[in-house]
Amino acid sequence: MPRIAYVNGRYVAHREASIHIEDRGYQFADGVYEVVPVFEGRLVDEEPHFDRLQYSLGELRIAPPCSRAALRFICCELLRRNDLRRGILYMQVTRGVAARDHKFPAAAKSALVVTTKNYGGPTAKLIEEGARVVTIPDIRWARCDIKSISLLPNVLGKQEAIERGAFEAWLIDREGNVTEGTSTNAWIVTADKRVVTRQLGNAILAGVTRASLRKLMTAEGYELEERPFSLAEAKNAAEAFLTSSTSLVLPITQIDDSRIADGKPGPMTRKLREAMLSYVNK
Ligand code: PLP
Repeated sequence: MPRIAYVNGRYVAHREASIHIEDRGYQFADGVYEVVPVFEGRLVDEEPHFDRLQYSLGELRIAPPCSRAALRFICCELLRRNDLRRGILYMQVTRGVAARDHKFPAAAKSALVVTTKNYGGPTAKLIEEGARVVTIPDIRWARCDIKSISLLPNVLGKQEAIERGAFEAWLIDREGNVTEGTSTNAWIVTADKRVVTRQLGNAILAGVTRASLRKLMTAEGYELEERPFSLAEAKNAAEAFLTSSTSLVLPITQIDDSRIADGKPGPMTRKLREAMLSYVNK
């Protein structure tokens, strides 16, 4: 069965799917995106992902390409056509096609692309042993709350992580605090078992997994602190982990050359991963 993509009103063979060379996403990275996890053939946290897409579009003054109901239909139809059970759904909206000129075009129609991919999540080995992260300066722009397709610093950061033998790079701001990963939110657990993650604001993306985990934690009675934490605090933490739609909750056992605690995934992290797994599979 050929893999199908949705491109501007049509379902087409993925390998033949294309957009115009003057699409502003291609020319200026003038667009936004969402990645939604798929479990049991179902979109997880569909509404918060649609809400964040609407927020990103609004902040950039890009018109929604269609109604939310139409978008929901397209996503479900694509899952059906690709018979996707477990993986991710990718949505991208750009300001559309127009002759290349920096200012907003007078009459461009927002462009919508939706694709799906089979993906089983991080390997069992990575989950069992925990991931390594390296740290790099956060050189991104001042609106990281917008899920923009302009991802060059994130791309360079992830590449550096891979070249240094790590899974992810954590980004460090000018004050020496961790903002987030290149495509993940960053968390630590203190010696007295309080879970800490950076507060929302322009410096980080409001992760949907972050929000869901926060709710699960409240329900389970865990203590959460939303505040900046320094790289030194992270290296001395009892546990560390990251969250994202693709990795859910993934333990971190090394930051740069520092092992976290005994170098094994921590008990709180394991519990939170289990809680997240039950949530996405329910
Ligand atoms: N932070 C950044 C910079 C990201 O790109 C992502 C996901 O792509 C996240 C955090 C995690 O967000 P979510 O949990 O919605 O996948």
